[in-house]
Amino acid sequence: MHELSIMTSIVDTAQKYAVENNAKKVKKISVLAGEMSGVLPYYLNYYFPKVIKDMPLFDGCILDARAEEIRLLCKSCNTQYNPKQTDYVCPKCKSADCKILSGKDVTISCIEILFEDKE
Ligand SMILES: [Zn+2]
Repeated sequence: MHELSIMTSIVDTAQKYAVENNAKKVKKISVLAGEMSGVLPYYLNYYFPKVIKDMPLFDGCILDARAEEIRLLCKSCNTQYNPKQTDYVCPKCKSADCKILSGKDVTISCIEILFEDKE
Protein backbone atom coordinates (compact mmCIF):
# COMPACT_ATOMS: atom_id res chain seq x y z
CA MET A 1 0.00 0.00 0.00
CA HIS A 2 1.08 3.54 -0.88
CA GLU A 3 0.85 4.98 2.64
CA LEU A 4 2.81 2.08 4.11
CA SER A 5 5.82 2.64 1.83
CA ILE A 6 5.67 6.40 2.50
CA MET A 7 5.51 5.80 6.25
CA THR A 8 8.46 3.40 6.00
CA SER A 9 10.56 5.97 4.16
CA ILE A 10 9.62 8.70 6.68
CA VAL A 11 10.76 6.44 9.53
CA ASP A 12 13.96 5.61 7.61
CA THR A 13 14.70 9.32 7.20
CA ALA A 14 14.05 9.98 10.91
CA GLN A 15 16.24 7.05 11.89
CA LYS A 16 19.10 8.27 9.71
CA TYR A 17 18.75 11.75 11.17
CA ALA A 18 18.79 10.39 14.75
CA VAL A 19 21.83 8.20 14.11
CA GLU A 20 23.74 11.03 12.44
CA ASN A 21 23.08 13.22 15.48
CA ASN A 22 23.87 10.51 18.05
CA ALA A 23 20.35 10.68 19.47
CA LYS A 24 18.99 8.09 21.87
CA LYS A 25 15.38 8.43 20.86
CA VAL A 26 13.14 9.95 18.24
CA LYS A 27 10.53 11.84 20.21
CA LYS A 28 8.24 13.22 17.56
CA ILE A 29 7.90 13.29 13.79
CA SER A 30 5.76 15.95 12.14
CA VAL A 31 4.55 15.23 8.64
CA LEU A 32 2.57 17.31 6.18
CA ALA A 33 0.56 15.26 3.70
CA GLY A 34 -0.31 17.45 0.75
CA GLU A 35 -3.93 17.14 -0.34
CA MET A 36 -2.73 16.69 -3.92
CA SER A 37 -0.47 13.77 -2.96
CA GLY A 38 -3.46 11.54 -2.26
CA VAL A 39 -1.89 10.48 1.03
CA LEU A 40 -4.26 10.67 3.99
CA PRO A 41 -2.91 11.44 7.50
CA TYR A 42 -5.36 8.85 8.80
CA TYR A 43 -3.45 6.05 7.07
CA LEU A 44 -0.06 7.41 8.09
CA ASN A 45 -1.26 7.31 11.71
CA TYR A 46 -2.59 3.83 11.10
CA TYR A 47 0.68 2.42 9.75
CA PHE A 48 3.05 4.29 12.04
CA PRO A 49 2.83 1.93 15.07
CA LYS A 50 3.31 -1.06 12.74
CA VAL A 51 6.39 0.44 11.09
CA ILE A 52 8.11 1.42 14.38
CA LYS A 53 7.28 -1.85 16.11
CA ASP A 54 10.51 -3.52 17.35
CA MET A 55 12.48 -0.30 16.80
CA PRO A 56 13.69 0.86 20.27
CA LEU A 57 14.81 4.16 18.78
CA PHE A 58 11.14 5.03 18.20
CA ASP A 59 9.82 3.82 21.54
CA GLY A 60 7.16 6.32 22.64
CA CYS A 61 7.56 8.40 19.49
CA ILE A 62 4.63 10.57 18.46
CA LEU A 63 3.57 11.04 14.87
CA ASP A 64 1.93 14.35 14.06
CA ALA A 65 0.51 13.89 10.56
CA ARG A 66 -1.55 16.71 9.12
CA ALA A 67 -3.12 17.43 5.78
CA GLU A 68 -1.56 20.31 3.90
CA GLU A 69 -3.92 22.45 1.89
CA ILE A 70 -3.29 22.94 -1.82
CA ARG A 71 -2.15 26.48 -2.65
CA LEU A 72 -1.80 27.66 -6.21
CA LEU A 73 -0.32 30.85 -7.57
CA CYS A 74 -1.83 32.26 -10.76
CA LYS A 75 0.96 33.12 -13.19
CA SER A 76 -1.15 35.76 -14.92
CA CYS A 77 -2.32 37.88 -12.00
CA ASN A 78 -0.33 36.53 -8.99
CA THR A 79 -3.44 35.59 -7.01
CA GLN A 80 -2.93 32.78 -4.51
CA TYR A 81 -5.86 30.42 -4.18
CA ASN A 82 -7.05 27.01 -3.08
CA PRO A 83 -8.31 25.15 -6.15
CA LYS A 84 -10.94 23.05 -4.43
CA GLN A 85 -13.77 25.49 -5.11
CA THR A 86 -12.57 26.66 -8.50
CA ASP A 87 -11.52 23.61 -10.56
CA TYR A 88 -7.92 24.78 -10.70
CA VAL A 89 -8.89 27.97 -12.52
CA CYS A 90 -7.87 31.31 -11.04
CA PRO A 91 -10.90 32.82 -9.27
CA LYS A 92 -9.84 36.30 -10.32
CA CYS A 93 -8.81 36.12 -14.00
CA LYS A 94 -9.95 32.56 -14.91
CA SER A 95 -6.49 31.57 -16.10
CA ALA A 96 -5.50 27.93 -15.64
CA ASP A 97 -1.78 28.71 -15.89
CA CYS A 98 -0.70 28.33 -12.31
CA LYS A 99 2.19 27.27 -10.14
CA ILE A 100 1.78 24.83 -7.24
CA LEU A 101 2.99 26.42 -4.00
CA SER A 102 2.07 23.66 -1.58
CA GLY A 103 0.02 20.52 -1.16
CA LYS A 104 1.78 18.43 -3.79
CA ASP A 105 4.09 16.26 -1.70
CA VAL A 106 4.41 14.48 1.59
CA THR A 107 7.07 16.28 3.62
CA ILE A 108 8.65 15.88 7.02
CA SER A 109 8.29 19.28 8.64
CA CYS A 110 10.05 18.42 11.92
CA ILE A 111 11.94 15.60 13.64
CA GLU A 112 12.42 15.92 17.42
CA ILE A 113 15.16 13.82 18.95
CA LEU A 114 16.31 13.10 22.49
CA PHE A 115 19.93 12.74 23.52
CA GLU A 116 19.22 11.15 26.91
CA ASP A 117 17.35 7.96 27.66
CA LYS A 118 15.22 9.58 30.34
CA GLU A 119 12.15 11.63 29.55
ZN1 LIG B 1 -5.28 34.93 -12.14
